Amino acid sequence: MIEIQNVRKSFGALEVLKGIDLTVHNGEVLTIIGGSGSGKSTLLTCINGLEPIDSGRILVDGTEVHARSTDLNKLRQKIGIVFQQWNAFPHLTVLENVMLAPRKVKGMSKPDAEAMAVKQLEHVGLGDKLSVYPSRLSGGQQQRMAIARALAMSPKYMLFDEVTSALDPMLVGEVLDTLRLLASDGMTMICVTHEMKFAREVSDRVAFFHQGVMAEIAPPAELFGAPKSPDLQKFLAATA
Ligand code: ADP
Ligand code: MG
Repeated sequence: MIEIQNVRKSFGALEVLKGIDLTVHNGEVLTIIGGSGSGKSTLLTCINGLEPIDSGRILVDGTEVHARSTDLNKLRQKIGIVFQQWNAFPHLTVLENVMLAPRKVKGMSKPDAEAMAVKQLEHVGLGDKLSVYPSRLSGGQQQRMAIARALAMSPKYMLFDEVTSALDPMLVGEVLDTLRLLASDGMTMICVTHEMKFAREVSDRVAFFHQGVMAEIAPPAELFGAPKSPDLQKFLAATA
């Protein structure tokens, strides 16, 4: 599981995470909602050790992410992360792009990496795009390739940061369907999203971030049905 204990983080004078406490259990789908600048992306980058924290602890399966002794490269193999946009290597095919990390980071043999990449690309519905170059893919297909690329490392946890925000409305659905599929496979996921319908349908719990504070966390029926804090009420009214 992922345990976040009283995590604080500032950029200069700006405190972006003001003591976050949160445990994500194995098999759980947690979505994080909240306004721009509330600290959602920062939290995700702290979880996989891309950003240092000022105080508190983050434990992934009991390993403290920010401890000096922690092998971050090893830890990160457990935690796949997909951002709004991922720039694939343009001179490599879709298959080659997805094979790269298993080859380089995990030292997988070429046939094993290829088998894994094909499996994951088929899983996200790109089985017919293996030999295509990334520039030929639609935005939605590119995001599904990015998801396949993360899955090819066999992560135990997946973090998604607004993976549909840069997409044409028409293409959002296919990417959300891929996330739904992963959730139904039992993947442990943290999804930062603006898609409230998706959050309502897929999450075990939804967390609302406001100005660096996790202002509310509850199962979706409760959080959306009976929001407690005025800030969440305002946020939901604005996104409705
Ligand atoms: P969200 O993802 O909720 O929109 P972020 O976590 O990206 O919010 O950002 C929270 C705040 O931290 C914002 O005010 C943002 O400008 C600031 N911030 C994020 N990353 C950096 C950085 N690397 N350097 C300085 N300020 C940053
Ligand atoms: Mg963000």
